[in-house]
Amino acid sequence: MIAFFIFILITVLLFFLFEILFMPSIYRSIKLNELKSNTEKMISLYGSDTFYSESQSTATKYNLCLLLIDPINQSKTKLSGTQYPGAVLYDLSYNDCLQLYTITKQNGGTSLLIIEKEESSGSSSSNGMKKPSEQYSVRNYSSSVAVDTGLNVLYGVIFTDDNGQELMLISNSFLSPITAEVRSMTLTLGTVSGISILLALFIAAYLSRKVASPIVKINKKAKALGEGNYKIHFDEQVGYLEANELSATLNQAATELAKVEDLRRELIANVSHDLRTPLTLISGYSEVMRDIPGEVTPENLQTIIDEVARLNSLVNDMLELSKIQSGNISLHPTDFDFTTELEKIMDTYRTLTERQGYHMKLLQDKQPILVHADVALITRAVMNLINNAMTYTGADKSVTVLKSYSDDNVRVEVTDTGNGISPDKLELIWDRYYKVDAEHKRAAQGTGLGLSIVKSIVTMHNGSYGVRSREGVGSTFWFEIPRKKDSPNR
Ligand code: ADP
Repeated sequence: MIAFFIFILITVLLFFLFEILFMPSIYRSIKLNELKSNTEKMISLYGSDTFYSESQSTATKYNLCLLLIDPINQSKTKLSGTQYPGAVLYDLSYNDCLQLYTITKQNGGTSLLIIEKEESSGSSSSNGMKKPSEQYSVRNYSSSVAVDTGLNVLYGVIFTDDNGQELMLISNSFLSPITAEVRSMTLTLGTVSGISILLALFIAAYLSRKVASPIVKINKKAKALGEGNYKIHFDEQVGYLEANELSATLNQAATELAKVEDLRRELIANVSHDLRTPLTLISGYSEVMRDIPGEVTPENLQTIIDEVARLNSLVNDMLELSKIQSGNISLHPTDFDFTTELEKIMDTYRTLTERQGYHMKLLQDKQPILVHADVALITRAVMNLINNAMTYTGADKSVTVLKSYSDDNVRVEVTDTGNGISPDKLELIWDRYYKVDAEHKRAAQGTGLGLSIVKSIVTMHNGSYGVRSREGVGSTFWFEIPRKKDSPNR
C-alpha cells in the first residue's frame, strides 16, 4: 500500500516537474528552433520567385517579422505586412539595423540576440553591449533569462546572394511571458495533485484494510500451520473473494496435512508392528535352534522361511505402493484380451489352492474383451482382490470371480463368503495401512496395503472401484476399467 502511495506521489511530482519547471524552457526552445529554421529556409529561397510570397506566409504562420538588410544599397525591406504585437523589428531605423549587421558580423555571421526598448533614453546598455540606437539595447541570448517578461528575440544571418553581394536577413519573434500560464497551471495542478494525493491516501488506507489485513491474519495462521498446528481454522469470511478462497484452500490444506500426519503416525505404528512380529519370531526361532540342537527341525526352519517371506512381501508392497503413489511408475499399456488374462490368473490359483481346499470359481463367457492397459498392474490388482478374498473368506473356502462388461467398461467382481465388513469401515479399507482389525489373527495377516495398491492401479487406468459387503454373508470387491475404444466386438 505504501508502494501504491509512493507511486502516486512520484507520478504527481513528475507531472509537476515537467509541466511547471520544464515547460518554459521547452516552450522557448521550440520558439527559437522555429525562428532559426524559418530564417534559414528563407535564405535558401532568396532569389527564387517564391521568396516574397513564402516570406509572407511563413511570417503569418509563425508570427514572425522578417527584414532584409542590404548594407551596400543602405536599404531595409520588410518581408511581411504586419508587425506582430510585442515585436520591434519593423520599428528599427536603418542605423539600428546597421548596428545589428555589425554585431552579427562580429559574431561570425549569425547572431541570436535579445532586443529591448529602453525605458529612458539616457540609460546605458545593461551588460555593456552596443546599443543599436538611443532607444534599443541588445544582448546575446542566453537561456537563463527570466521567463516572467516577454522577450524579443532576433535572429540575424549574413549571407551572400548569387552576385556575391552580402545581405542580412533578420527575423524577430516575440516570446510571450509564460509566468501567467505557469501560475494558473501550478494552481490547477496543485489542486489536482492535492486531490490525487488525498485520494491515493484514502485508497491506500482502504486497500490496506481490505486487502492487507485479511492477508496478515491468514499469514499469522499459516505460520502456525507451518509449525505443525493442523487444528488451526482459517476464517472463510475474511473479506474479499480471493482472500476467502485462500482461506478455504488453506483449510483444505490443513485438513489434508492433518490426514497425512495421522497417516504418518499410523504408518510408523503399522510398519514397526508389522516388521517387529516376524523379526521377533525369526530371532526367537534362530536362538532356540542355536541353543538346543534338537530344535533344528524342518517345522522350525519353515517358520523362519515363512516369516522371511512375510517380511519380503511387506517390503515389496511398501515399495510398490510408494512407487505407484509418487508417480515414479509409468504405465506400459498394451492391447490385451481381458478374458484370456483372467483365465490365466485363475489357472495359477487353481493348482496352488485346490490342494489347500479352496473352491475357486471363474464366471465369464468366452467373448474376448480387448483393453488397452498395463497387463502386469491389472493382474496385480485382480490378484490382490483374490488374495484378500482367500484370506477373509468363510469356512467353505469359496471364492468367486465374475467378469461382466458393458459397451464402455469391463468389470471384475471377487466375492467371498467371509464375515463381511461393517458399513462404517467400507470407506476406510482403501486407505494405506488400514486394517479393520489391527490385531487380526495372524493367519489372516496382511500388509494393509493391498487395497490401496488396487485403488492406485485402477485410478491410473481411469477406472472405478468399490465394495459391497454384508456382515455375516460376505463381501464383493470390484473394479472396472475402460474397454479399448475401437475394439471390434463393442
Ligand atoms: P491387508 O493386506 O491387510 O489385507 P488390504 O489393503 O488388502 O490389506 O485390506 C485392508 C483391510 O480391509 C484388511 O485389513 C481387511 O480388514 C479388510 N478387507 C480386505 N478385503 C477383505 C475381504 N475380502 N473381506 C473382509 N475384509 C476385507
